[in-house]
This record gives sequence, C-alpha cells and structure tokens, in this order.
Amino acid sequence: MAQEDFENAGAECMRFAAPGRVNLIGEHTDYSGGFVMPAAIDFRTVAAIRGGSGGIRIDSENFHETVEYSATEIPSAGRQHWSDYPMGVAWSLSQEGIRIPGFELSLSGDVPLGAGLSSSASIEVATAFALLALAGREMPLARIALACQRAENDYVGARCGIMDQFIACAGRVDHALMLDCRSLEYRLLPIPPEVRIVICNSMVKHEHAGGGYNTRRREVEEGTRILHRFRPAIAELRDARETDLNACAGQMPENVFRRCRHIITENKRVEDAAAALERGDLAAFGALMVDAHRSMRDDFQASCEELDILVEIASTLPGCCGARMTGGGFGGCTVNLVRQESAEEFRDRIRERYRMATGFDAEVYLCRASGGACRLA
Ligand code: ADP
Ligand code: MG
Repeated sequence: MAQEDFENAGAECMRFAAPGRVNLIGEHTDYSGGFVMPAAIDFRTVAAIRGGSGGIRIDSENFHETVEYSATEIPSAGRQHWSDYPMGVAWSLSQEGIRIPGFELSLSGDVPLGAGLSSSASIEVATAFALLALAGREMPLARIALACQRAENDYVGARCGIMDQFIACAGRVDHALMLDCRSLEYRLLPIPPEVRIVICNSMVKHEHAGGGYNTRRREVEEGTRILHRFRPAIAELRDARETDLNACAGQMPENVFRRCRHIITENKRVEDAAAALERGDLAAFGALMVDAHRSMRDDFQASCEELDILVEIASTLPGCCGARMTGGGFGGCTVNLVRQESAEEFRDRIRERYRMATGFDAEVYLCRASGGACRLA
C-alpha cells in the first residue's frame, strides 16, 4: 500500500526517517575494531507507525506487500523475507527488555536496495525509532545502533559491522563521521561546501559478493590470530602496526598478509583523512581515497573490473578530487568527491564513458551529507 494511504486510513500515526549512507574511507576495518568514515546521505527510509489491535502488520510500499505476525509470539529467527529486517528489530528490542505492543507499520524508502548504500540499516533504524516511540521508551543512539546491528547479524543472518547502523543514527548535515568501531567514540568532520558527494552505482553485483565478504573476514581472523601469538597485545588488527605484520610475514600465507596490510594501512588512512577534512585539505583527502582504492584492489582484492573502470574514468574528469570503490566490494558503488560546479557534467560524462566501456548503465546519485534518524512532523 502507498504510505500516504496508510497515513490517511485509520488513527493518527507517527513518522520517522533514517538515512542510507556512503563510506568515504575505511573499508573492511569495522569488524576488526578499526576506523571508518561514513556520511549519511539524502536517501532514506520512512517508517509510519500506529498502535495495532493486538497483532503486528507491516507493509512495504517498495515491495507492495503486507505481512502479519502475532505480537505475543515474535518468531525468534528470520525467514529470508524483507520483513525480517523490521521483525528483527522488534525481536532485538524485546531482547533488551522493551515490551513491543501490537503495531501497524508502513515502510517506504528511496535508498536503492542492495546497492551497498545500506537500505538495510536505514529500514532497521527507522523501525527502531518508530517502535521505541510507540513503546514510550528512549535509548542512547549507540544502543539503538547496536540493537539494529544485532537484528541484522542474528535475526536476518547477515554479518555486518556497526558502521551502517551507527551513521544512520548519528549522521550530521554536511558532515562525515569518523567512528572508532571499538569504543564507538566518534568525531564529526565538516565536508567542504565546495564539493558534492557523487555516488556511482556500477549496477553489478558479482555472484560471489556474499561469499567473498565472508572469506575476507576469515582471512582477517587468521591474520589476527598469528599476530596475536607474535604480540599478545594485538587483540584485533586495529592494534597492529605495519612493523608487526612485516615481522610475521613468514608465518602467514601471502593472501592473509595482504588482507592484513590493507586493514592496517587503511586505519592509518582514515586518521589522515580526518585530519585532512579538519584542515579543509581536499587534495590530501582525494589522494587518500585513491590510495584506499588501490589497497582494496591489490591487497584486499575485493574490487572488480567495473568498479576499477568507474574509478579510472572519474580520475580523468574535471572537478573530481578523489574516487574509490565503497562498501563490501565485488560490485556496488564508487564514491567520488566532485567540485559542486562540475558535478552534473561529471554525472553525464561518467555514465557515457562507463556505458562505452562496459555496456552497463550506471546510476549516478548527487548527494549531500545529511542528518541521522529523526521524527518527522
Ligand atoms: P543494502 O543494505 O546495501 O541496500 P542489503 O541486502 O543489506 O543491501 O539490504 C537490502 C534489503 O533490505 C532488501 O532486499 C529488503 O529485504 C530490505 N529493505 C530495505 N529497504 C526496504 C523497504 N523500504 N521495504 C522492505 N524491505 C526493505
Ligand atoms: Mg545492508
């Protein structure tokens, strides 16, 4: 059902929105306690909610589908359906001791689904805000983010770090957020007003994307175990320096060494990128994006031909300060910082040249860093 019809039919409802996100730098660092730098974008999921008469009814305008559940028996695991996301949040909040009453929820989003811009975190966080309001409860943002991450990890069954849910909660207009994924401390960093965040969707997702992500996580875990034996203070890769890794090079397979080198150097790049934004140094920031892409391509080996082509084309276009693949890899999107006045031309040129090179029509989104989840009037 259209969300508008939901709002007009029946008792008054409350509305909440949560954004998608793009990661500017810091890829695959989140699950080893490292640093990431996402920005919330101006694409979002809106959740409209009202109390129900005992049961649970959830409608997705995107999927043109309504599902019903019993409020007294929230299933304890997902069933491979879009409703796992909101139901996972209901389950996760009830695990935190929040009593979830019956409700009617309408979901509608313009975050492209499955493109790596985290429509999943946006639907989770919008749902969490809605359910907490209905239950009359408040929670610190970090706890909301953790509850949503648990929904995705343990209920939906998708491994993901804390970044997506955290930025969907705590994003700030015209700012990126550097997050310490271990302590959840963060710093807001101004994005210079002269640039736009331009996201290019390669429109490909390679078959092995999910498997590749899990393989990389295993390789990182293996490297961490070896480094921990070498220096017990290394609990996560975040604690390791390049010199530690070099000292262990002989004890680990080449691929594991490279995965670790990506993460260790990437953490340093995020810190340098934060300093660059703080002093408004776009050239330095752009150079770090380029290095980060190379590291994902060559050391982490999670890029793909289409993403490399997009980055390659971007680097030749006027006004582009930096470009790199973003997200888990093996397809999905690139993120580009492009001077405001060149952004539209950048969009047209990159689409044209990507089509010539690959035959695919890229979708290109001109974004602004936006705020985190909120209640709508
Ligand atoms: P991403 O987070 O990159 O967009 P995911 O595979 O993690 O990709 O999450 C996408 C899934 O989230 C969709 O396939 C769907 O199940 C769910 N989802 C996101 N937004 C909505 C929505 N508005 N309505 C219903 N389900 C949604
Ligand atoms: Mg997701």
